[in-house]
Amino acid sequence: MSRVALVSGGTRGIGAAISIALKAAGYRVAANFAGNEEKAKAFHDETGIPVFKWDVSSYQACVEGIAKVEAELGPIEVLVNNAGITRDGMFHKMTPEQWNEVIGTNLTGLFNMTHPIWNGMRDRGFGRVVNISSINGQKGQMGQVNYSAAKAGDLGLTKALAQEGAAKNITVNAICPGYIATEMVRAVPEKVLNERIIPLIPVGRLGEPEEIARCVVFLASDDAGFITGSTLSANGGQFFAS
Ligand code: NDP
Repeated sequence: MSRVALVSGGTRGIGAAISIALKAAGYRVAANFAGNEEKAKAFHDETGIPVFKWDVSSYQACVEGIAKVEAELGPIEVLVNNAGITRDGMFHKMTPEQWNEVIGTNLTGLFNMTHPIWNGMRDRGFGRVVNISSINGQKGQMGQVNYSAAKAGDLGLTKALAQEGAAKNITVNAICPGYIATEMVRAVPEKVLNERIIPLIPVGRLGEPEEIARCVVFLASDDAGFITGSTLSANGGQFFAS
């Protein structure tokens, strides 16, 4: 029987590419989303992948959503924590709401999604958790104090949880994408992209969502069983974390 994989924010952008790649690799995939029904429906119609709406920043919503996924597909063996948002602004202008929303989705969301699934993984003696962090969690980014803090927190969570999961054959890893061509990045004005972002990327282009999806498929596989607590940077050479 093929394994069940849940991808948060799995209906758009990088998450959609991850859902599609996992399905192609033989997983039974469930894709979560927050509220963009139109994109979720189009994704479902195109891929046949079931979609489930809930907000990862709510623990109770995660408990209920995960129960629904498991009732339909079976126990979740692969969890990809991909859902993420930006609420950018310079720190001196950042509101508590901007801070709380980003921490709630991008950091607390990982706790909320992983915690209800963790005991099942422990009981079954197998699990793969892949957390989508960011280059900006590694190096920091002006205008993104909230986002950089959350994404750096994701890396700490990954390393600590990996130690707890190891004896139960659960791996926990993170991927730090650089700039990837999704709506999140396309929202940046083209002039800024061409003049200030792409020149910083040694390979001379944005990454493609599928390039991150292939990293996830590898980390979810049996072949990656000895890799845990790691951070995989996929950023076109823009930043080398030590
Ligand atoms: P998109 O904005 O294209 O898609 C985000 C997805 O996450 C959507 O499916 C969205 O659902 C979902 N989502 C957002 N908030 C919530 C929530 N509270 N609960 C449930 N689902 C939610 O993002 P990207 O594909 O660009 O980014 C995916 C991940 O990769 C994020 O964690 C991001 O921080 C990270 N990343 C992205 C980079 C990039 O260059 N694009 C670079 C580095 C990291 P809905 O469609 O309903 O809104």
